[in-house]
Amino acid sequence: MKFFGAAESKLSILMYHRVGKPEFGERSLYVSEDNFERQVDYLLRRYRVLSFENAVELLARGNQLGRDSVVLTFDDGYRDNYEKAFPILKKRGCPATIFAATEPLESGQALWPTTLYYWCAATKALEIRLRVDGSDGAPPVLPLTTTKQRRRAFYAIKSLLIHRPSRDREVLMREIAESLGFDANDDPFHKASMLTWDQLQEMSAAGIGIGGHTMTHPSLPALSSEECARELTQSKELIERKLNRPVTLFAYPFGGRDDFDPKLEAMVKDAGYKAACSALRGVNRPGANRFALRRIYVRNEPLPVFALRLLSAAWRSE
Ligand SMILES: [Zn+2]
Repeated sequence: MKFFGAAESKLSILMYHRVGKPEFGERSLYVSEDNFERQVDYLLRRYRVLSFENAVELLARGNQLGRDSVVLTFDDGYRDNYEKAFPILKKRGCPATIFAATEPLESGQALWPTTLYYWCAATKALEIRLRVDGSDGAPPVLPLTTTKQRRRAFYAIKSLLIHRPSRDREVLMREIAESLGFDANDDPFHKASMLTWDQLQEMSAAGIGIGGHTMTHPSLPALSSEECARELTQSKELIERKLNRPVTLFAYPFGGRDDFDPKLEAMVKDAGYKAACSALRGVNRPGANRFALRRIYVRNEPLPVFALRLLSAAWRSE
């Protein structure tokens, strides 16, 4: 095992979601503006920050990557990427890539986990009864009295829904909305939580890379091959048409071990992408599988912890 300072080529890909103050939504997705700004300044001072396209080329060639190469990525396409992160990046000319799901861009609606989190946090109901397919006993009841219970209920329901085909999930979301006293058709964030095409176009024109992240943000292995192909190609073509530039990078929605496999990697390649990111922790060395790149999940943490997280990722992979 090699420790700090080992002089080997590697690419660290940072994974962000949201920048700003946590409102409704998973707190772990947020990095404050102050911390983000400090992190960017630190990266520009201590690392070689590359555009993702450039990094993929260097990773393939290997010998020119260096040991301090870093790429910044943002998943999903939250509006705060434009309002909070973009001004900080633009001011410093810092490259970054946003993996945007296209359905929220088209409809303005929040992604389902964001809405689910809101329902669990804001409901007046004191418990929820979950319908679980295939079980004979009474459905489990999740209490919703304390904040902790509500958060726990959110994660339990989310993990139940992630690996369902989109149609099943929509039916279940409707049932959950009803039992928690909400209208499943409403967007509790008034269509203000996700990026618009105009914002994406402005960032793209300013040099921010835009990558694919499917249309509806499903866990892809839960879908049929046809549905998968549609999610991969239609989202790619739509972004290319709207931004008038090629989309060559992809990030698997959720990105865990159960959210992609070799068959999907081949489909992503066939769809015309040149590289794809998972959410598995680690750094990427020359020769790494370009369709299963590892990332480092950035949390809202002070600079010394952030700096250590970057260093330790090189010797602690999942
Ligand atoms: Zn995502």
